[in-house]
Amino acid sequence: MSTVVCKFGGTSLADGNNIKRVTDIILADPCRRYAVVSAPGKRFSSDTKVTDLLYACYQESTEKGNCSETFAKIRQRFLTIVKELGLDFDMNPILDQTEREIEEKKSADFTASRGEYLNARIVAAKLGWTFIDAKDIIFFDKNGAFDEQKSYPLIAERLRKVGNAVIPGFYGTDANGNIKTFSRGGSDISGSIIARAVNAELYENWTDVSGFLACDPRIVDKPEKIEVISFKELRELSYMGANVLHADAIFPVRKGDIPIKIKNTFRPEDVGTLILPSKKYTPQGNLVTGIAGKKDFTVIFLEKSMMNSEIGFARKALSVLEEEGVCFEHMPSGIDTLSLVIKSKFLKDGVLDRIITKIKEQLAPDYVRVLENIALVATVGHGMANSVGTSARLFSALSEAGINVRMIDQGSSELNIIVGIDNDDYEKCVRAVYYEFFCANK
Ligand code: ASP
Repeated sequence: MSTVVCKFGGTSLADGNNIKRVTDIILADPCRRYAVVSAPGKRFSSDTKVTDLLYACYQESTEKGNCSETFAKIRQRFLTIVKELGLDFDMNPILDQTEREIEEKKSADFTASRGEYLNARIVAAKLGWTFIDAKDIIFFDKNGAFDEQKSYPLIAERLRKVGNAVIPGFYGTDANGNIKTFSRGGSDISGSIIARAVNAELYENWTDVSGFLACDPRIVDKPEKIEVISFKELRELSYMGANVLHADAIFPVRKGDIPIKIKNTFRPEDVGTLILPSKKYTPQGNLVTGIAGKKDFTVIFLEKSMMNSEIGFARKALSVLEEEGVCFEHMPSGIDTLSLVIKSKFLKDGVLDRIITKIKEQLAPDYVRVLENIALVATVGHGMANSVGTSARLFSALSEAGINVRMIDQGSSELNIIVGIDNDDYEKCVRAVYYEFFCANK
């Protein structure tokens, strides 16, 4: 029997009714053997996620020595869930212990992890499945990175012994034996790790949308759905802000060639998005698969005659960034030009001025120019490679829309074309590219 690892997000598990919906989904397919769960999310738009309440608990207990006020809200949410599910399961002793531990440990990560921990206990009780604590199977190394070598064999061994299990997402144990969380939304990463460790046939990620859309629906009304996408395309799009799945969740399954399926808990009949390893993926006929972008970058543009024959020019430029602890996002170059594209938030408090001064001193460029408030828009698709005229169409669409392109970067894989434009043109640019590639010929 093939093995499917399924992960459910916070909205899918926000209350008892939704958890019932989730357990029905899990039990509908015997291949769904391991479930990874998030903490209860928002039940309605003005609601607060349990994880956010837990961060508030941490705050309260560091300020006042206890967190009784906020923890009462968390207690209520879990007790209500247990009641709605009709479970014969006394949650109070577990909640008492959790409150005590939060106050004693005074650790933000430990506190935040308790939403997943408590929810996984409930989902396991509802399914009658084994609860396996992520702290015993997911480990981080001394640099805080996920420790594959230690975790994978342990996960495989523990899970093989039990036929089915529920595992809390979002956290594991660090090199000192303390609870450590991934970044926000990190249960997606936990699910991916579990899928890789048990060599699953499929990693299902159940959320509150029916997969990826070709662009942000806040910018274009009802954009096309993406039914199939490759890992590489997804990496480009999620790095650029398409945030259905945590950007780091791709890596564990990608290494194991395990496909991901994004599904909607509230519309399970929708096809969702299938994310495939590049070797199993054939472009679906569209030149462009999706468009995504981000605002607030700064471009440092350098020009120096004969730059092409000056050995070490780029290295010196990057050393200046390194000295200031700043990373760059892109570095398009020409014969005599080099641009450094950097997130503006890294250049505050005099950092930009220091970088410019050092560049002038150490690289002696003929010309330095700084462009601020730049947005990047990536047009992504395997279909663009080898297709004559794609960039011409893209740039004519932008020029017709009156958008001034400040920077261009085309990845060597021809998988994407990134344009830098003024922040103010961002929405207009996404719309122009979408209309060109998704609507023009229809
Ligand atoms: N509950 C955590 C968060 O809100 C992790 C997750 O849901 O994936 O970020």
